[in-house]
Amino acid sequence: MDAISTVSWDSAVQTLPGIGPARAALLLQLGIGTVRDLLFHFPRAYEDRRTPAPIGTLAPGGARTVHGEVVMRRCIHLRGGKSMAAITVRDGTGEVAATWFGRGFLARQFPPGTRVVLTGAVGVYKGLALRNPEYEILAGGADDRLNTGRVVPIYRLAEKLTQRMLRRWISDALDACANLPGDPLPALLRERLGFAALPDALRAAHFPREIAEGERARDRFAYEELLGLQLGVLQARTRREAERKGYAHVAGGPLLAALRASLPFALTAAQRRAIGDILADMASARPMVRLLEGDVGCGKTAVALHAIAAACDGGFQTAFMAPTEILAEQHALTLRALLSPLGIAVELLAAGAPGAAAARARLARGEALVVAGTHALIQERTAFRRLGLAIIDEQHRFGVIQRGMLAAKGSIPDILHMTATPIPRTLALTACGGMDISVIDELPPGRLPVKTSRVPPAKLPGLYEYIRAQAARGFQTYYVCPLIEESEKIDLSAVTRRFEELRAGPLAGLRAALIHGRMRAEEKDAVMRGFTAGALDVLFGTTVIEVGIDAPRATTMVIEDAARFGLTQLHQLRGRVGRSREQSWCFLLGKSGTPEGRRRLEVLCATTDGFRIAEEDLALRGPGEIRGCRQAGLSDLRIADLPRDARLLAEARRDAAEILAADARLEAPSHARLAEAARAHAAILA
Ligand code: ADP
Ligand code: MG
Repeated sequence: MDAISTVSWDSAVQTLPGIGPARAALLLQLGIGTVRDLLFHFPRAYEDRRTPAPIGTLAPGGARTVHGEVVMRRCIHLRGGKSMAAITVRDGTGEVAATWFGRGFLARQFPPGTRVVLTGAVGVYKGLALRNPEYEILAGGADDRLNTGRVVPIYRLAEKLTQRMLRRWISDALDACANLPGDPLPALLRERLGFAALPDALRAAHFPREIAEGERARDRFAYEELLGLQLGVLQARTRREAERKGYAHVAGGPLLAALRASLPFALTAAQRRAIGDILADMASARPMVRLLEGDVGCGKTAVALHAIAAACDGGFQTAFMAPTEILAEQHALTLRALLSPLGIAVELLAAGAPGAAAARARLARGEALVVAGTHALIQERTAFRRLGLAIIDEQHRFGVIQRGMLAAKGSIPDILHMTATPIPRTLALTACGGMDISVIDELPPGRLPVKTSRVPPAKLPGLYEYIRAQAARGFQTYYVCPLIEESEKIDLSAVTRRFEELRAGPLAGLRAALIHGRMRAEEKDAVMRGFTAGALDVLFGTTVIEVGIDAPRATTMVIEDAARFGLTQLHQLRGRVGRSREQSWCFLLGKSGTPEGRRRLEVLCATTDGFRIAEEDLALRGPGEIRGCRQAGLSDLRIADLPRDARLLAEARRDAAEILAADARLEAPSHARLAEAARAHAAILA
């Protein structure tokens, strides 16, 4: 005990007994370097081992835990080269088998006489048997008290580490770290929320008396983490607003009025609201950082046009950045159609676009007010005379740094991010940091929701007929083959083969073309232009057609092997159709594969609501995987888990605002450790 009583919070794990360089390296795989990291490696679950089931009372059914002694073990070789481990375990009341299919090598670990704890479902295999149970070998001695006869923690492990090791080390660390640093949560707040103080909560999180006590302790740390994040978010935002004065744009000038008058359609109420938000931001000297969120096809470009017109009214330049050349070109055309008649020239800046040098010169001299473009916009040789507005379309496709580089082309331009990947409401508070958010939750009138249906192999001839019939009426089809990530080559040959097969067979006579990621940009552009101009009936492709393309006469989307795609990606693909008054269809081909695959296809067939889809996607995949959130600090959460902790997040948001209202700079001594946490998060979100 004495030997380890000097361990401190920030010591390397090697200062704990039993951890040498090799084990320290294993722990590092779990992100554990210091004693503190170890203490914050919370269990992924608990198991109640206080009352093991007497073996004599077992019956087939749910999961049970038994304690006993191994009396027999075997490695059984099965047909097909597989093997299985089987052991027999006895306690005072009877015997039971335990089996592990496909893992014959496990038998080695259980010489007769070994004391084990087994937890698993009770099934039947030549008598009763625990099937593929979780197992733990009891070594005898004091250590068993950490591993049996109590609620035990179950940790996330790395190779060669065992539950027993982690329990021992964490227990040692808890004993050794009696003098923890101050509690980040001020006592008053803790009491109001009913959370335990730091040392008690740490112990309870690992070795609770009841499972509920452990979960409550975990909640405390999740809350603490979310509070730090929210403090960081709110402080960063206040600082941004206070320190940097932006441009005050004109929000009621003649160009804006002329644009309003010349729009070929009436804006939806949601578009009007978003425009109102943006113009108010622009008119104020506070720099705008706003996210415009709206499902595919809801008309974000029209909203952006209003912002551009307002910037032009004050003589400011606008840069409109899109992730692909095709999209940049399409934006340039859309903007030109409405802005050229008002006397505003629109430049296009993309690697493949001609006249880039001249366009750059006009931008640098300030002769051109508006430019749509790709990454070319953030190249060093691109300069603006007076950049007042930066618009970033499909913002999740750009990294934080790229977005920052666009803003840096001006002094402090207003920034408008746009995304068609709806960020679930539960995450928006966090993921988007200090951004303001406008949501377009309405599609232009007259749009028919896209109908979605799965097509079994037997019905494929009907599908081909449908595509032909649509083509005969002048409507177009996208035909998407999935990306097989292991090899781009296989991928390409698969889509090429499908293309040739269908073009020679069931779709013979239709005008079809293929587009894929290996093509040169000019080739892709030529094909896309052909499609949007109506010169093609069917466009075959990999997911390169996923982003933002607007081809209103496309009414059919076919997705092969649909279960291979993520839910959001499927939704994006589907959003390529349904852009006219004609009924559009999305057809999903292929097996559903995994249960998650089936769930994704079910959700897609059941709803076209992007928000519901985003929430489902979040539930299926976890926030780290949600596009656009990765760089936004969310995946840096180590304890909190969204949406599960949405309620804690809302609480933390409220409490953070309250704390800052009383102590804006977190200078009070009781806020010292919160201030640290806030700074760490603000650095990520900046
Ligand atoms: P997204 O939000 O996906 O970027 P777009 O801006 O490309 O959507 O708009 C999709 C289509 O809807 C375009 O063809 C656009 O002209 C049209 N549109 C936008 N707003 C309206 C509206 N209020 N009424 C009718 N059509 C509209
Ligand atoms: Mg768009």
